[in-house]
Amino acid sequence: MSAGEDDIVIVGAGIVGICAATYLAEAGRKVTVIDRTGICEETSSGNAAAFAFSDVLPMAQKGMAWQAPKWLLDPLGPLSIPPAYLPKLAPWLWRFLRAGSPARREAALAAQVSLMRLAEAEWMGLMERSATRPMLREDGSLELYESEAEFQASLPGWNERERFGIAFRHLAKHELSEYQPGLSEQFLRGTFVPGWKTISDPKLLGKAIWRHAQGQGAAFVAGEVGLIMPANGRLTVQLRQGRTIGAHKVIIAAGAWSHLLARQIGDRIPLETERGYNTTLPADAFDLKRQLIFSGHGFVITPLETGLRVGGAVELGGLRRPPNYARSRAMLDKAKRFLPGLKTEGGRQWMGYRPSLPDSLPVIGRAGRTGDVFYAFGHGHLGLTQAAATGRLIRDLVLGQAPAIDLAPFSPQRF
Ligand SMILES: Cc1cc2nc3c(=O)[nH]c(=O)nc-3n(C[C@H](O)[C@H](O)[C@H](O)COP(=O)(O)OP(=O)(O)OC[C@H]3O[C@@H](n4cnc5c(N)ncnc54)[C@H](O)[C@@H]3O)c2cc1C
Repeated sequence: MSAGEDDIVIVGAGIVGICAATYLAEAGRKVTVIDRTGICEETSSGNAAAFAFSDVLPMAQKGMAWQAPKWLLDPLGPLSIPPAYLPKLAPWLWRFLRAGSPARREAALAAQVSLMRLAEAEWMGLMERSATRPMLREDGSLELYESEAEFQASLPGWNERERFGIAFRHLAKHELSEYQPGLSEQFLRGTFVPGWKTISDPKLLGKAIWRHAQGQGAAFVAGEVGLIMPANGRLTVQLRQGRTIGAHKVIIAAGAWSHLLARQIGDRIPLETERGYNTTLPADAFDLKRQLIFSGHGFVITPLETGLRVGGAVELGGLRRPPNYARSRAMLDKAKRFLPGLKTEGGRQWMGYRPSLPDSLPVIGRAGRTGDVFYAFGHGHLGLTQAAATGRLIRDLVLGQAPAIDLAPFSPQRF
């Protein structure tokens, strides 16, 4: 059955898919978003809520080499790889390590900076247009260090950010309580980043943006896309539930599952998932002044309107393995040590699938063999931050306009 002659179909109603839908609907295009669950119900629902515009360092650099061996030794530590998954992961890991070479790292850094500048401008504009600006917190972030060695190891990264005009201020021990009262004595240094922003709740923001998109005419269809096929100069999107939807253009924004659809249309994209965990505590669990970042332990604590979210970590364990919520508990136990007054009762545990490419850059561009299919996925740790910029860039591509930034570093064909 052909259920319609939709102009543009977007697969995936995570924050990236709905931002793309919003920009295209605002441009007057007929947009249908298809998702098997709902609007921002998966990875985009439970993340750490940061607009991390200053987080420009590629993961292959970001202290990884220094920390990874120690982290891997702790089964519930910030980084884990289930041994049985290692053979499947090996090609991605190899590319990840190569992405850490000086030349590739520098290129990825410059590309990330250009995307982040666009990201900030686009989010501020989109928040105005969708009346979501009250959901923004502009109180910066506080990164904390337990030793002078850890602080010193962070300095090259801060110097790199300084090159791109990112503001920060290093703090001595006696200044920390001004930025966050109630911290454990074990923290000796800190860095305050004033331009770091958070939002009141990522799921609520996603749903509010979607209401704006709906107001511009975007529609939602519940279903799981099984197949995307070219047919008679158009595209046919088949749902596993039996329905077929026709489209002139299709955008794949299916998060950590996107490569499965891209492979059907001839593109092999090395997408992996970095699974992350957290616990959301009741809002009165602690009087948190801003987002706290414990880089040495791979997690953050975020004050949300809906609670206090404690989590992070990376588990390179694929899409099928059941969640191991001992990871959420391990971070909560540490958070209690770092903030002795934290009330840890009444939390809700969660796991999400970061969609990650080995060079820490997303894929934003056209499919190799079918010019009417576009990709918008692989934002890893930064999908919330970069969603509005991605929506803008996808709109530029679909409308045949010059993209707002050079898209070569984000090309699906770069692998
Ligand atoms: C613990 C954690 C903390 C994080 N913190 C931050 C942060 O503070 N700031 C930040 O910027 N980013 C953060 N991230 C990353 C961010 O959450 C992701 O990059 C982002 O949510 C990805 O959005 P997406 O739209 O690409 O994918 P998703 O949100 O996963 O959406 C993809 C959608 O596609 C749907 N789908 C998949 N396949 C199909 C199919 N075949 N048919 C129909 N539907 C399909 C899924 O149901 C899903 O709804 C964090 C991630 C984690 C795990």
